[in-house]
Amino acid sequence: MSQFWSPAVRELTPYVPGEQPTEQVIKLNTNENPYPPAPGVGEVLRHYSTNHLRLYPDPTSAALCNALASTYGVTAGQVFVGNGSDEVLAFAFQAFFCHGAPLDVPSITYSFYPVYAKLYGVELRQHPLNARWEVDLEALADAGESSGVIFANPNAPTGHAHSLAALEALLTRVTERVVLVDEAYVDFGAESVVSLTERYPNLLVTGTFSKSRSLAGLRLGYAIGSPELIEGLKRVKDSFNSYPVDRLAEQVGLAALEDTDHFNACRDYVITTRERTRTRLEALGFEVLPSQANFLLVQHKIYAGDQLFVGLRERGIIVRHFNKAGLSNFLRITIGTDDEMDSLIEALEVLCG
Ligand SMILES: *Cc1c(COP(=O)(O)O)cnc(C)c1O
Repeated sequence: MSQFWSPAVRELTPYVPGEQPTEQVIKLNTNENPYPPAPGVGEVLRHYSTNHLRLYPDPTSAALCNALASTYGVTAGQVFVGNGSDEVLAFAFQAFFCHGAPLDVPSITYSFYPVYAKLYGVELRQHPLNARWEVDLEALADAGESSGVIFANPNAPTGHAHSLAALEALLTRVTERVVLVDEAYVDFGAESVVSLTERYPNLLVTGTFSKSRSLAGLRLGYAIGSPELIEGLKRVKDSFNSYPVDRLAEQVGLAALEDTDHFNACRDYVITTRERTRTRLEALGFEVLPSQANFLLVQHKIYAGDQLFVGLRERGIIVRHFNKAGLSNFLRITIGTDDEMDSLIEALEVLCG
């Protein structure tokens, strides 16, 4: 606390990202991809002329927006890019969710949403998950006077994804405010709602290069929606930072998008390893929630989540444990390579033996 802080800053509750350890560990705590980015990314970095860095980047990131538009079958006017999808989400809060009514969110979802809500003075109306640990779309649709709806699909940290049909049913009912669907994990087996942006001008979909494209260290995210929503995001961006995507990041992003074979291969590996890990965890006495993401949310029938977290940490394996009501007995385990998951299972065999 400092006298120099603005009153609003004193009231903030900043997001706490998962640990980025400096020592050699098996890192299964922040849902990074265990495989390297597309080989073309290395080509870009090796051949990039530093002289390009004298100049500011294209403030509209037109090349990257065009490439994303053709990847997702939309027009470039339906695409916005930013410095990680976290930044895009922050812009979206400011652009769409400050109407003086509460914002409808699941009570268990990406924990950055409450942080942005506080930053922008948006009141949250939290809706518990249903009995199957799924986002309760009925409750979100029925909530009444609202500033909008936001959730992740697949949801974090549960991994459950609703179908396209279920999400369209929500969109037929919430038409007056923005519905933001955060698709950070959609590539690991869920259906994207991007195709619905054509029909629902209030649907905003966010995505990231951090997870399925192995570029968490680069910071590239995007949003897809109707041109009027994209225009709203651009208004906020151009009132904050004209150049959120630097020159090098744009070139790297283009290279990553081009290589669909690499993308598909890494995604398939992660999905196969996820299902293999599920079976082995169940055999060890874990309840494993269904997941269409690159992580599993698990709890043991006997051993407490916080104890297992510490035991794994002592064995050089970092997973995520949330000190939050309803979640404190769970561990969220990112899917790594097969070797990393073998080490995890070996450690858990000892801890749960
Ligand atoms: C990882 C994650 C993000 C943030 O992605 P960045 O593009 O790295 O900022 C957004 N939403 C959810 C649900 C995530 O898990």
